[in-house]
Amino acid sequence: MGYDIERFSLEDAKEFISGNVDALLFVDAKADTFKALARRGMFTDFIEENGNYHELIEKLWFHFNDTMDKITEDYQVFIPTFGEFSGKYSRRLKIIENETPHAIQMTIYPLDENYYLILLDEMDNSEYIKDFMTSEKVNTIQNTYLFSMYIDLFKDSTSSISITEISDETVHSSIKYSEWRYMIVNMIWPDDQELFMERTDPEYLKKNIMPGRTASFDCLMQNLEGKYIWVKLIFSRAETSNSEEDFRFVFMVQDIHENSVQLMSTLKKYEELASKDTLTDVFNHGRIETEIYNAIEIVTRTDRAVSMMMFDIDYFKNVNDKYGHAVGDMTLKHFAYLLKEYFKSVNAVIGRWGGEEFVAVCYDADINKAAKYAEEIRNKVSGEDFKVAGNVTCSIGLTQISKEDNFNQAFDHMDKALYQAKSDGRNCVR
Ligand code: GH3
Ligand code: MG
Ligand code: MG
Repeated sequence: MGYDIERFSLEDAKEFISGNVDALLFVDAKADTFKALARRGMFTDFIEENGNYHELIEKLWFHFNDTMDKITEDYQVFIPTFGEFSGKYSRRLKIIENETPHAIQMTIYPLDENYYLILLDEMDNSEYIKDFMTSEKVNTIQNTYLFSMYIDLFKDSTSSISITEISDETVHSSIKYSEWRYMIVNMIWPDDQELFMERTDPEYLKKNIMPGRTASFDCLMQNLEGKYIWVKLIFSRAETSNSEEDFRFVFMVQDIHENSVQLMSTLKKYEELASKDTLTDVFNHGRIETEIYNAIEIVTRTDRAVSMMMFDIDYFKNVNDKYGHAVGDMTLKHFAYLLKEYFKSVNAVIGRWGGEEFVAVCYDADINKAAKYAEEIRNKVSGEDFKVAGNVTCSIGLTQISKEDNFNQAFDHMDKALYQAKSDGRNCVR
């Protein structure tokens, strides 16, 4: 058929648009109702002909599953579902219907204060949609940023900022900042709630953030699926010369989940490296010392029995003298391996105290149980073929930590027992 640029008119455009827009809704915000002027495609079923405006916005703002009621409610403190649109407003929505993802472009035209036209169009590039929908972001709040708003502490007011493709108009919302804090805290991980309340306290913000400065803190917050994700909460104070009464801030929530998770796993790796003895791969001196302090703390505070034992290889100097240092090292590794294997099956940690001395801290083990462990290990070691070094034995001193013990006392008991084992002829437990 074809079009003629000379003849094509606004009327034609109107006709085309009204015949092609996927949904066109008229809203009376004050009366909290809407009417669908046009519905096509997925919207034929998704949107009713008439309905409640708030329910509609909730339906559009959030993608759904069956368990979203609570979260949808929570997110009303973030997203201005009850806000007023003061200018053209546009955003992309992701809607999942019958397990099929749809990317929707929504534009809102305020007709005047309380009346809006809402246009909804489904994007039809399926590849693009697939990409878009499978991104992690889908599982968080709609849109790519999580949330941002203006805060005026002097007026105790908040208003949302929505930066989108065609409009960065403010969406007015009338939640008081002081009330908003108490709503949002429910979405913060329980352990982080105290931090949240401290850092969002108006007096704290006034005192600690100077004009033009920014401050942030990280915490875990619930996303749309009810899962806690790492977010960065950022407060940035507006420049002002009137620092007595002007306390305007921009507040932003940034999704830092993936980065944080990665960072934490890297830190954990380094922490592990920093606590390992490089030769034998058991805990190093510093780490096992910390463990002893922890053990003493547990015994003092609870009724759990904790014992510890020290191993010292007998005549180890001879191994070095006879076969050389390299074989000595190999023997140490072999010895540590036997300890590690044995302690795998019980609640104990083991570390190298230094040289050919090792310490094991055994939890939920009284002196009798620990003595049984020690005897079994002694037996295992003396029966083991240490390749080049051949037969190797060890002496073991053990103690059950008592409620009265401090570090030095507990260690001294163990050390004395080891000394006793040595003087009683070695290859024995005391
Ligand atoms: P005892 O039965 O009285 O414990 O005799 P010992 O020879 O084991 O006792 P001593 O403490 O005198 O000797 C420990 C030796 O362990 C001294 C040192 O040469 C050796 N040693 C300490 N650290 C290492 C190490 O990292 N590698 C090697 N190969 N040898 C080590
Ligand atoms: Mg020694
Ligand atoms: Mg020794």
